[in-house]
Amino acid sequence: MNSLRISQLRKTFGGLTAVNDLSFSVEAGEIVGLLGPNGSGKTTVMNLISGALAPDAGDIELAGRPIAGQAPHKVAHAGVARTFQLVRVLADMDATENVVAGLAFSREPTWGAQATARAGELLARVGLARHARTLAGELTYIDQKRLELARALALSPRLLLLDEWLAGLNPSELLEGIALVRSLKDEGVSIILVEHVMDAVHSLCDRCVVMNAGAKIAEGTPAAVLSDPEVIRAYLGD
Ligand code: ADP
Repeated sequence: MNSLRISQLRKTFGGLTAVNDLSFSVEAGEIVGLLGPNGSGKTTVMNLISGALAPDAGDIELAGRPIAGQAPHKVAHAGVARTFQLVRVLADMDATENVVAGLAFSREPTWGAQATARAGELLARVGLARHARTLAGELTYIDQKRLELARALALSPRLLLLDEWLAGLNPSELLEGIALVRSLKDEGVSIILVEHVMDAVHSLCDRCVVMNAGAKIAEGTPAAVLSDPEVIRAYLGD
């Protein structure tokens, strides 16, 4: 089943074409890496999918339903969750309260004791059970990332957008992070990974889409695209 289908997507900012007739799809349970040098349009694509931006042209369908141009909360209800490049947690609330806040926005919102119990399950899922009552602002960087992921999972996503979620982790944390992402894929969640950590790209991505100046310049396995001369030229800034 086709989980996400993007066709001829276009976004301009003034005279700049940030996303240029981009098409690609993500199947259920597939991890697709969205790669490209800085400024190539990756974040804009994530913002278009999540509803933070509306496209100038093109279609985005999730499980056969159009979502392009819809408000972020509607896109979240349709099953798209995301984490951010700069971690966004509610620092003055504890980990459980952060996830409960996420649950209130899910397709089937839960509150009260039921929400607290569900938050506990999600915190355990990401390895944060022992920090259920720790203030988010007091968690270490990786634990804040785990919390952000738990909050995204509170939406029961069909599609998860991970924006440099593995950046800044030490080698053992990176292995844990990779295992966690892989376990989500095994549950059938589709994932788009914007990631500069190439070890993670190699070990996680089924397929990669490489962008340069808003357009797709390559698509294929990580090994194939990362040895593609046009991709290498784009990264070197020719
Ligand atoms: P990446 O995530 O690959 O680094 P971005 O999607 O952030 O690329 O940016 C693509 C291009 O669009 C860049 O040239 C960037 O400067 C431009 N851009 C992104 N967002 C805006 C915006 N809100 N207003 C104007 N230009 C933008």
